[in-house]
Amino acid sequence: MAPDFDLIVLGAGSGGVAASRRAALHGTRVAVVEGGRVGGTCVIRGCVPKKLLMYAAQLGDAIGDARGYGWDVAPPRFEMARWAAAKAAETARLEGIYRQMLEAGGVTLVEGWARLDGPQRVRVGEQLLTAPHIIVATGAAPVRDSLPGIELCASSDELLDLTALPPQAAVIGGGYIAVEFASILARLGVAVAMYYRDRLPLRGFDDMLRVAAASELQAAGVELHPGNVPRRVQRTAAGLLLTLAEDRVREFPWVLNATGRRPNTAGLGLDTVGLVTDAAAALPVNELLATGAAGVYALGDVTNRKNLTPVAIAEGRALADALFGPGHRPVDLSRVASGVFMLPPIGTVGPGEAELVAAGHRVDVYATEFRPMKQAFIGGSERTRMKLLADADSGRVLAVHMIGADAPEIVQSLAVALTAGATKADFDRTVAMHPTAAEEFVLMREPVRRVGPGS
Ligand code: NDP
Repeated sequence: MAPDFDLIVLGAGSGGVAASRRAALHGTRVAVVEGGRVGGTCVIRGCVPKKLLMYAAQLGDAIGDARGYGWDVAPPRFEMARWAAAKAAETARLEGIYRQMLEAGGVTLVEGWARLDGPQRVRVGEQLLTAPHIIVATGAAPVRDSLPGIELCASSDELLDLTALPPQAAVIGGGYIAVEFASILARLGVAVAMYYRDRLPLRGFDDMLRVAAASELQAAGVELHPGNVPRRVQRTAAGLLLTLAEDRVREFPWVLNATGRRPNTAGLGLDTVGLVTDAAAALPVNELLATGAAGVYALGDVTNRKNLTPVAIAEGRALADALFGPGHRPVDLSRVASGVFMLPPIGTVGPGEAELVAAGHRVDVYATEFRPMKQAFIGGSERTRMKLLADADSGRVLAVHMIGADAPEIVQSLAVALTAGATKADFDRTVAMHPTAAEEFVLMREPVRRVGPGS
């Protein structure tokens, strides 16, 4: 019997939607199966609503700053319920657009939870669908077993659905989600205490960014507890009790579990096609995004490589092109820019200084730190920090890191230069645009140090 479709995609998040629309564009019959809301983590409970909450926090800062610029303003008051209603309307609007895009693109949306049921077969409830190609794009979800009692805490999913903010909160973890929400919540009037394992937040980022993130969080009033994560969490009448180092306890009305995310592979029926997940519950793939089972591919967070929305989208399109279009076009994950949407935000592309040295590079380090004009004018303390790392032998710019206003916007543009192989000399002969903060990236003349072999 002929298969029902040429391709079945499991999950209508960023990666799944991109893969299915591109495949349909190549004239294939595509079904995408989704049990939750169309749009996935990024649109419904991740990047988009998070950034909308960051804007709310930023506007609070702007109202405060406005006084220094001559405005007469009453003390602002933030109402989470109003934000929540506006956010719900916006995510509903975006979900509608995603549904429309699938329909207009000729993709069949099958609503329900999918499960593999042997080669080329996918079960959705009572329904059986068949296709020679299957893409698993089921994403990831918050880890709920990282320490005893952590399941009692809220995840970022629940945070973004709050209609009222708690007066105090603990944040457990020191990664992207912990840092972003600690920074945002503190600005919205919550007294935040952050508990994390390492000496600094944001493990894996350049040290300049990690040190600056810690100091900006502190400046925003966040209590930092490095090297200190609760041993357990217990429910109390008033909230949650954290048992900390030396058996000290502290109670909070609300706690955010930001201890990471885990690929959504449980219950997918992977065993029916002979697939096993790795220790992190991820589905391993090769450079063609193929799993070990014939005709089964995977992309995005479920593969736990570079867990970023644009990566999943790029991979989805590339895989559809490889299977049904012009052919294989690998996605280069070596220079993917990313942002941490704390305030001030971080933008980064390329490895950190220590990582480059550990990999054997000789690196010229260019760095600058200053109080931006907008802050200096009102006596603000926020600082902007920039670092540019260039190969000492070829001059090629290997990485750019920034924390400060508009850093993600600036670094996204610089990522093009890095992808094109720009050297420090190319930056030097670029004439500055004044007055901007970004101009400092083309005005850093002398390295502050040379690091790596023989330096
Ligand atoms: P991250 O991997 O960034 O951070 C997880 C944090 O939890 C780390 O600080 C880690 O500590 C800590 N942790 C893990 N296990 C434990 C444990 N048992 N006890 C205590 N602490 C623990 O995950 P996030 O959940 O913050 O984000 C998930 C992913 O989503 C990110 O990696 C990123 O790829 C993506 N994301 C991207 C965003 C963006 O682009 N702006 C925003 C949000 C998420 P340690 O460092 O010590 O291991």
